[in-house]
This record gives sequence, structure tokens and C-alpha cells, in this order.
Amino acid sequence: MSGRFSNLFSNVIALTLMLGSTTAAIGQSGQSKKVFIITDMEGVDGIFNSELQCNPLQSPRFEESRKLLTGEINAAVDGLLEGGATEVVVWDGHDGSKTLSTLDIHPKARLLMGTPVSSTLELNSSYNAVVFIGQHAMAGAEKGVLSHSYSSDAVQNIWVNNKPVGEIGARVMLAGTFGIPVVMLSGDAAACKEIHQLVPQAECAEVKQGVSRTAAFSLSHPAACSLIREKARRAMERLAEFKPYRTSRPVEVKVQLTPKGTASLDPAPGVEQLDERTWVFRGKDIIEAWLKYSSF
Ligand SMILES: [Zn+2]
Repeated sequence: MSGRFSNLFSNVIALTLMLGSTTAAIGQSGQSKKVFIITDMEGVDGIFNSELQCNPLQSPRFEESRKLLTGEINAAVDGLLEGGATEVVVWDGHDGSKTLSTLDIHPKARLLMGTPVSSTLELNSSYNAVVFIGQHAMAGAEKGVLSHSYSSDAVQNIWVNNKPVGEIGARVMLAGTFGIPVVMLSGDAAACKEIHQLVPQAECAEVKQGVSRTAAFSLSHPAACSLIREKARRAMERLAEFKPYRTSRPVEVKVQLTPKGTASLDPAPGVEQLDERTWVFRGKDIIEAWLKYSSF
């Protein structure tokens, strides 16, 4: 084979491979729509007790919880694909990222599992939408089932520019800095209320209603899954209506810890302390300010 011919030949192969991978990621509308699913466990149907159900290494009902969460995620992936998503990445976001399995995760999704991942959850501007599945409300939320903000032991309250936030708020703001809108959430009524305060048009699958922090009226698992599938499909169909959340700049993250959390905090020199248990972290944007405190 002459040098010129083999060059031409390898160029054709390279072009074919490139086109192949591009078409794989593009839907019928001709547009790539990539979705990142943030998963957690406390907001899943049937979950009401952390000790009994949510601890990966100790809870007697953990395997049942893992199946419930997996079922909800797979229902969401089905709905997202029906609504036009071309690629779905699922992040195993509950307690140390050791819950989900490639044995039974949706065959069309890719699973991001294990630690450490980047402090901004491996997000980047190639994604078109973020979705929460199994999400709980922030610490102290009224009738929020297993409500907490990152750590029930350590965190009492968090505010960003004086607005109370938990995991939902912080991650809506994180996605916003990458230009990604949050379009859907599944969780309890308190989590739905929380996302609607930031993203009023978000689709919400309310799979349970808290009676107290550790009791709830829950849908059955099949009913929860069909609701999630429907809401996920609607969210993708309505994608053009969503805009990324904008946090005004500069940003101030104020964190009030519990007495136990206070004992274990080791803030960098120069971080402002407001009172015995409250610290302030500042930055030009939410990422800079938040990362002075913790990862997302
Ligand atoms: Zn959580």
C-alpha cells in the first residue's frame, strides 16, 4: 500500500468512526440531549427510617432499599429516553457511592460510581439537563422525610446569599454555573416544595408525603415508578422552557453547624466566624464560595 493511499484509507476509517459515535449520541430531532441524574435514597418511595433502611453496610432492609432506588432510577431513564434524551448518566449519590449495581441499572444508562469524584460531581457544560431521583428535603424542613443537608450529624442550616439551601439548592446552583437547567425531581412532598421555590416550572414526582421526619404516606413502588416515568418524559419534552438557575454574584455561603459538627470543623485560616457555630465562606461565584466549605 502506498503511503498516500494508506493515509486516505485511515482518514476514511477515522471519519466513519467519528460519524458513528456522533450518530449514537444524537436523537431523531438531530440534537444531542445529555442528562445527569443525581440519586439519593431518603426520598425514595417506601423509605422512612435511616437505621433500618439506608445504611449500606448495616441496615437490615438495605437490599430492599437498593431495589426500590434502582426501580425509580430505571423508570426515570425510560421516561427521559421517551422524552428525547439521547444519553443518560446516573450518579450513585447516596452515602459514599456504593449502592447501585451495573447488574440491574438501566442498560442504556452509564453509571458514575465510587469515590472520590471531582468536588463538582464530574458535571460539565456538555449536559443539557439535571434530574434528582430519591431526593430528600433540607435539614429542618417541615414534615421532610429523613430531611438533612449533607450530614444529619453535622449541619443545622446553610444559606446561600441568605436563602436557605440544602442539597437541592446547592446542586441547582452548581448546575446553573455550568449552564445546565434542573428539570425534574422525585422525592417527598417537602423536597418537591423545595425545588419549586428555586425552579417553579420543574416537573415533580411526589412519591410520598411526610407525616413526621420518620413517617410517611407512600405510594406503592409500581405507582411511584409510573409517576416518575411520566414526569421524566414531560420534563424532557418541555426542555426548551427551562433556563439554568442564576445565582447573583459575589456569593456568600453561611453554614450553621450542630455542636457535634462544630467540634469536627477545621476551617482554613481567614474564614470568617459569625458565632460559636456559624461560619461564612465567600467567593466570586457559588463554586468558589462553596468549595471553601465543602464539596457539592
Ligand atoms: Zn442526601
